Amino acid sequence: MFIRSRRNLAYLFTISMGSILIVFAGLAYYLVVQQQLQAFDDKLYSESKAIARNLLYRLYNKQWQVQRRDPPIYSDTVPEINNGFAYLRWYNSNGELVDSIGVSGSRKLTVVPGFQTIKINKNRDRETTTKEWLRELTLPVIQDNFLIGYIQVAAPLTPLRKNLNKARFFLTLSLPVALGTIGITGWFLGGLAMQPTRRAYEQLQRFTADASHELRAPVAAILSNAQVALMPPRDELEQHFRLENIAGIAKSMSNLINNLLFLARQDGPLDTITLKTIDLVGLLRSIAQEYQQQAVTQNLNFTFHIPESPVNLKADLDLLKQAIINLLSNAFKYTPDEGTVTLKLLTQSHKAIIQVEDDGIGIPEEDLPHIFERFYRVDAARSRQTGGFGLGLAIAQQIVQAHRGQITAKSLLGQGSTFKIELPLK
Ligand code: ADP
Repeated sequence: MFIRSRRNLAYLFTISMGSILIVFAGLAYYLVVQQQLQAFDDKLYSESKAIARNLLYRLYNKQWQVQRRDPPIYSDTVPEINNGFAYLRWYNSNGELVDSIGVSGSRKLTVVPGFQTIKINKNRDRETTTKEWLRELTLPVIQDNFLIGYIQVAAPLTPLRKNLNKARFFLTLSLPVALGTIGITGWFLGGLAMQPTRRAYEQLQRFTADASHELRAPVAAILSNAQVALMPPRDELEQHFRLENIAGIAKSMSNLINNLLFLARQDGPLDTITLKTIDLVGLLRSIAQEYQQQAVTQNLNFTFHIPESPVNLKADLDLLKQAIINLLSNAFKYTPDEGTVTLKLLTQSHKAIIQVEDDGIGIPEEDLPHIFERFYRVDAARSRQTGGFGLGLAIAQQIVQAHRGQITAKSLLGQGSTFKIELPLK
């Protein structure tokens, strides 16, 4: 699924970036063509004007010679063809061809003055003719507000076309290379972009698999107990025992489902507007009181060090209570008889620290980095004995992080554990 999405992303990226690139390359090519044509036209225009001036001079020179009855020096033909021109034509003011040099043309001027691009057949030798593109300029020649005639000059576009062919060749070669590079970049970026989604998806899959696995065992237990309870009763007491079993398992399932729902619903930091100012001292004292009785029942020493003066911070009281209870109940669960559990509240400049210490069984070093993961249990057997699903610490961590705090654990196997919640005071 991810490979297909990544391929699609790379494909869409290539299409979009490739289209942009092609449009820009086309635009750049068009601008280059326009610019080169403009330069070509400018040159053709200035050369044509020089020819027209030369022509006028010769005509005048001739008139002057006629008036003085001198033999004419020049004919009224156009001057020698300039280097590089395909033809040079001279039309009189009625548009009739007077003279021409180079490729012959129509006897009558058929075009309006200005530039135009034309294609002519050019004889290479007797047998072969080739097509040639020319840029033609028709200029009216005006002297003292009188139209004297028109000159028509045309130059081959071959050098310009050669340049443009080179540019086109370069574009044709570089475009596939650029598209390939865009495709590879798209594939790489697609992979990067999909990483968080992929991780979240894998986490969700693992979570779903773990949750269904955890639910399967109690459902099977309920089913087997119910099947036995449905049989004709041999013994009233046994039937009662089965029903009690079902009720107990259903209760623990309900706990598990609540925890799962909590983990699924609460994600990311809590909105500070919804938080209320609470006194941590008051909260911890009330929790400590609840656990004092349990310590007596479990034969544990439970001590607490909580300051007298209030420590206020913005928090969701119920959630914070849940996180602290999760740590305390673990400490009670994993500390054997006559062990000690301590609850502390400390304050530093900008943070409050809630610490739960025990001198219980401890956590092996290799398990310590994983204990906040969902469904992670150091030893499934000992956790199941205590009724744990491996969600208590994950929930505590999620709550603390939702308050923009952090939770850490230190432990030595056989010597005890210390869990620390740090919460920002502002
Ligand atoms: P559980 O509900 O199974 O206790 P938790 O998420 O609360 O799940 O704890 C994860 C694991 O971390 C437990 O299986 C337990 O082995 C270990 N653990 C947590 N707290 C303590 C503690 N105070 N002492 C020893 N082990 C602990």
